[in-house]
Amino acid sequence: VLVKHPSTDVVIVGGGFAGVACAKALAAHEIAVTLIDKHNYQQFQPLLYQVATGMLAAPDVARPLRGQFSHHPTVKVKEAEIDKVDPVAKTVTTVDGLTFGGDYLVLAAGAQPNFFGTPGAEEFAFPLYSLDDAELLRSRVFQVLEDADLDPRLLERGALNFVVIGGGATGVETAGALADLINEVLPRRFRDLPLHDARIHVVDLGDTLLNGFADESRAYAAKALEERGVHVHLGTSAKEITADRVVLSDGSHILTRTVVWGGGLQAAELAGSCGVVPGKGGRIDVEADLSIAGLPGVYAAGDVANIPGPDGRPLPQLGSVALQAGTAAARSIVADVEGRPRPAFQYRDKGIMAMIGRRAAVAQVGKRPHVLTGRLAFLSWLGVHAYLLSGFRERADALVAWGWDYLSKSRATSVIDRPSAARIDWSRVDEGS
Ligand SMILES: Cc1cc2nc3c(=O)[nH]c(=O)nc-3n(C[C@H](O)[C@H](O)[C@H](O)COP(=O)(O)OP(=O)(O)OC[C@H]3O[C@@H](n4cnc5c(N)ncnc54)[C@H](O)[C@@H]3O)c2cc1C
Repeated sequence: VLVKHPSTDVVIVGGGFAGVACAKALAAHEIAVTLIDKHNYQQFQPLLYQVATGMLAAPDVARPLRGQFSHHPTVKVKEAEIDKVDPVAKTVTTVDGLTFGGDYLVLAAGAQPNFFGTPGAEEFAFPLYSLDDAELLRSRVFQVLEDADLDPRLLERGALNFVVIGGGATGVETAGALADLINEVLPRRFRDLPLHDARIHVVDLGDTLLNGFADESRAYAAKALEERGVHVHLGTSAKEITADRVVLSDGSHILTRTVVWGGGLQAAELAGSCGVVPGKGGRIDVEADLSIAGLPGVYAAGDVANIPGPDGRPLPQLGSVALQAGTAAARSIVADVEGRPRPAFQYRDKGIMAMIGRRAAVAQVGKRPHVLTGRLAFLSWLGVHAYLLSGFRERADALVAWGWDYLSKSRATSVIDRPSAARIDWSRVDEGS
């Protein structure tokens, strides 16, 4: 039986998986919620690389926040960027100086790229963490192709080289999708371009791709990328990124105008301005009930937090963790309001998966992972994402249509709608870097 608590106010910062799940769970108790996000939509990050490679359109992976709460009268949605948090007063202040306060505060502001101080990365690499990032990268990919089509001399200057930094799920999925785009979709559109000369490189400091996945999945991913012509550089880091190249730790360099950053994440900036000493990855260390030690009534969930797992180590930054943790933070708040002890959050691991390309994916389910590879994994990947997106209502249709088009090699949104990111200053070279 749900007990209603209309006299309690909760402010949530961040309308991603964690914030939205928390707001929905609180709404069921008629607790008043103010959900604040700097965007007026929730973005579905697991499919950003599909937007970046033109396989899905931006609106397919973004869902307006107001629409999600139109049937929840106790939830107010505000579009604003928060830059100050007072965890004692339980208030947050927008960059324009407006302050919102409540009885409880939930910090769910997610993550941002971590360039680990790599010179030039912030200026020249394209991260893939927001919808905006994905659209900027897509515009760059198609602009570089247009430029090379117009002036074949640019081929010698690396126009058809694409470098992905990071061999985790984001890097592998992006490299695989780029390879499918270049090998299978573009040849009919860019008939004058020697696309067989295009090179996709994945660079990772570790000794394996898909760190954290089972050996079988990693081996399958390496083979599937190799079959697609992707060059994998393991045990290698990007020492510097300049306007026209990536300099590698082995002393070599790759000429390119398209560098994708999938090299790491850290907590959203807000984690540094909420009065707690940041933990690993700049994230906020939370207790098992998602509370922050020493700050009664303040909770953190999702990518912004280090959430202890069953072995005491922080849980990974995953959509499923964020979603479940957001709901758990709401359960803790309801327990506080009702004067009950807060339940500890127990993550239910439903598995991990990564798509490497058309008809190729890896999926691991269960504690002693059952590994699926190839077409079966691709179909499970499609099923799981259609299910996750089903909250995005009609967007699930887009995914099903996409799955069909993907198998039939017909789709690609090649519109260059971000000219500022797309524009390349080909006169800029960094010889001798
Ligand atoms: C490319 C990519 C692929 C991924 N693939 C998978 C996958 O296949 N499976 C999986 O489980 N997970 C995947 N993840 C991880 C998953 O997307 C994240 O773990 C999840 O989105 C975290 O949810 P969250 O609610 O904590 O943060 P987010 O979803 O990032 O939401 C945070 C929200 O806070 C808002 N915000 C931030 N700062 C402020 C501020 N100062 N003021 C106001 N609003 C603010 C942001 O606009 C954003 O809407 C992927 C992530 C990326 C980047």
